[in-house]
Amino acid sequence: MTELRNYNIDEIRRMDAENHLHPFTDYAEMAKEGGARIITRAEGCYLWDADGNRILDGMAGLWCVNVGYGRKELAETAYKQMLELPYYNTFFKTSTPPVAELSAKICSHLGPNFNRIFYSNSGSEANDTMFRLVRHYWNLMGRKTKKTIISRENAYHGSTVAGASLGGMKPMHEQADLPIPGVEHVMQPYWFQEAKPGESPEDFGVRAAKAVEDKILELGADNVGAFIGEPVQGAGGVIVPPSTYWPEINRICKKYDILLVADEVICGFGRTGEWFGHQTLGIEPDLIPMAKGLSSGYLPISALAISDRVASVLIEKGGEFYHGYTYSGHPASCAVALNNIEIIEREGLVEKVKNETGPYLAEALKRIEDLPLVGEVRSLGLMGAIALCKNKETREKFDPVGKVGIMCRDYCMDHGVVARPCGDTMVMSPPLTIEKPQIDDLVNTLGAAIEETAKKIG
Ligand code: PMP
Repeated sequence: MTELRNYNIDEIRRMDAENHLHPFTDYAEMAKEGGARIITRAEGCYLWDADGNRILDGMAGLWCVNVGYGRKELAETAYKQMLELPYYNTFFKTSTPPVAELSAKICSHLGPNFNRIFYSNSGSEANDTMFRLVRHYWNLMGRKTKKTIISRENAYHGSTVAGASLGGMKPMHEQADLPIPGVEHVMQPYWFQEAKPGESPEDFGVRAAKAVEDKILELGADNVGAFIGEPVQGAGGVIVPPSTYWPEINRICKKYDILLVADEVICGFGRTGEWFGHQTLGIEPDLIPMAKGLSSGYLPISALAISDRVASVLIEKGGEFYHGYTYSGHPASCAVALNNIEIIEREGLVEKVKNETGPYLAEALKRIEDLPLVGEVRSLGLMGAIALCKNKETREKFDPVGKVGIMCRDYCMDHGVVARPCGDTMVMSPPLTIEKPQIDDLVNTLGAAIEETAKKIG
C-alpha cells in the first residue's frame, strides 16, 4: 500500500480514472475535465488537494463532519476499540459495550418518548429500516392496509431502492423506474418557489401541509402508514418551511393516526442549533432516522430512533424482527460516534450554533441579499442557502436549471471554497466548529462568485 502522504499522485489519478466508478458523477464530463480532484488531507474546516491547494469546506464533506477534521481523539478511540474488539455482531441476543453506551447517549438527547435505537451504516439504510418497520408495525397492529408512505417532491432520503423511492428527486426515479409501489409524493413546503403571488409564508405553510391531508383523504387514512419529511430539506436546497407548516403536519398525522418520520440525517447533531431539527421546529415524530453528524463521518454509522409507541408493539407483539445488517452497531463506529457526541457536548457546539455562529451566518447572508441574481437568502443554524434566479421580481428560474449554480460552484472552488449547487441554489453546511472569520470567507467568496457569474451571463 502507498505510504500515507507519500502518494504518486499521477498513479492515483490514473487508477481512479481507470478503476473507480464514482457516485453522483457524470462520467463523460469528469473524463473530459481530466479526472477527479484528489483530496489528500484535512484539518479543522480545511481540505488540501493533491496540488497543495487549501480549500475551506463549506459543506462539511456531505453535511456530515460536524466536529471538523483532524480529531486525533476520534482516531485513537477507533484504534483502541479495534484492538480491543474490532468486530462483533449484535444479532441473536448479543451486544457490545460501545453499542449499549451509544444507545443510551443518543436517547439522552431525544425526548422522553424515545428509548430505543436500531443501527445501520448509512442514512439510506436507516430509511430502509424505517420503511420495513412501518409496515411491520401496522401489521402487528392488525391494520394491514395502512402501508403507503407519503413523502414530498424534491425530498432526499437516500439512494437505495427504498431511499430513492421515498425521495422526491425525479432524475433518480427515472433512472430506475421508481418509486416502488406504496410511496406517494406531495408538494414541498418551499415558499420562495411555490407560493402564489401575494401568498404569505404562513398561508403557504398551511396550504403545503393541507396537500398532505388531501393526499391522505384521496388514498384513505386506512391505507396510509407514515409521512416522512426532513425538518429542513437539505439536498433539495436548504428549504426552511414556514412556521405554520410543521404544527399542521403534527395535527394531521395525529388526526389520521399516521406515523410521523423526521429524517434527521442532516439536521441531527446540532446543525439547526438544537441537538435535533425536530426540536428546533417543534415536530413530534414517531421515528427518527439519523446518520452523518452521529459520527461526524469519521466512520460509517446510522441509526433509527424508535418511539415508545412503536417500540412497545414491536417488543411485546413482534416476535423476531427479521431485519439487520452485518455491521449494525459496529463496535468501532459506535465507539467513535459516542466520542463524537462527547466532543459536541464538551465544546458546546450546539449552543455555539444557536447563539453565535448560526445568527452570524444569517447576518452574513443578509449582506449579499441585494446582489444580482439573488432571489432569496435563508438559513437555520449552520445550514444556509442563496437561491439564484433569472428574475428577482417574478422568481423566474434559469433555463436550463443548474448551469448557473455550477458556474458559481466552480468559481468558489477556484477561490478555495467548497459550496454546493442544488439546482441554482447555492447551499452551505460547514463544520459546527467554524469561526466567524471563516464564515465571512465563505459568504464573501460566494458573493464574489455570484457577481462574477452575473457578469458572465450578462
Ligand atoms: N436522508 C437525508 C435527509 C439525507 O440528506 C441523506 C444523504 N444526504 C440520506 C438520507 C441518505 O444518507 P446516506 O447517503 O448516508 O445513505
